[in-house]
Amino acid sequence: MDKPLIEIKGVRHAYQTQTGELPVLDGLVLSVPEGGFSAVVGPSGCGKSTLTRLIAGLLKPDEGEVWLHGELVRGPKSIVGMAFQNPVLLEWRTILQNVMLPLEIVSTKMSRQEREDRALHLLALVGLEGFEDKRPSELSGGMRQRASLCRAIVHKPEVLILDEPFAALDAFTREDLWQTMHAVKAEEPFTGVLITHDLREAIFLADEIVVLSGRPARTQYVMDVHLKGPRDIEHLYTPRSADALNILRHQIQIAQGRAPAEEIAQ
Ligand code: ADP
Repeated sequence: MDKPLIEIKGVRHAYQTQTGELPVLDGLVLSVPEGGFSAVVGPSGCGKSTLTRLIAGLLKPDEGEVWLHGELVRGPKSIVGMAFQNPVLLEWRTILQNVMLPLEIVSTKMSRQEREDRALHLLALVGLEGFEDKRPSELSGGMRQRASLCRAIVHKPEVLILDEPFAALDAFTREDLWQTMHAVKAEEPFTGVLITHDLREAIFLADEIVVLSGRPARTQYVMDVHLKGPRDIEHLYTPRSADALNILRHQIQIAQGRAPAEEIAQ
């Protein structure tokens, strides 16, 4: 578990806007070990999505480096899978065809049957057995997000980036999806980065929670989550989880400039 698979070394990134340069990340450092799952939280607009685009090779840092599996990232790579708040499924394809799409692009040596078997296996794993031939609009929001997750991991990416994938779902559906994520990770190992605004989600899913400062973002605080491996919702209601939640809330207030840094609760 100790070898870093994702390494972000002193990354600086600024956007050029009509009103001048907008520094977004400044000296950001992040390391996720192979098989690890880190949640990144921070104030709105601090640069979390920018960070995911840098890891995915969709953006180049102005300074610093992003390494994946010992290789410097110079552009998009198929070892990265991504899922977003909006599942962006193609309406003219069935759910099965949507999930198979990445295999058609990156796994050209697989036969059609092998692709279909792989997609069907994942759809069953996330509870979508029987919905393979439906169109995206025939599914609920939670089901579409399950399909989007299958599509993100169908080509067995080593790195999975989840950018607020559950943010648009109601609380009960979201908790169901959290449980599904643990089941998926147990069967389909990946090294993950989860961007979220939901601190309970971060505690439930991640091994480590990284709080970013306000823009331009740097790593402000790192919390090792005491829960390891798959967990039950009840774990969120223990005194330890309540303490972790309070510390994280306070850290976010500091990042937002709403609490002085010296008041950090340890
Ligand atoms: P977060 O995900 O933390 O909400 P983002 O990484 O999406 O933050 O954006 C950080 C800041 O950069 C925001 O102020 C946003 O408006 C700005 N931004 C994002 N993308 C661009 C872009 N392509 N051009 C200019 N500004 C951008």
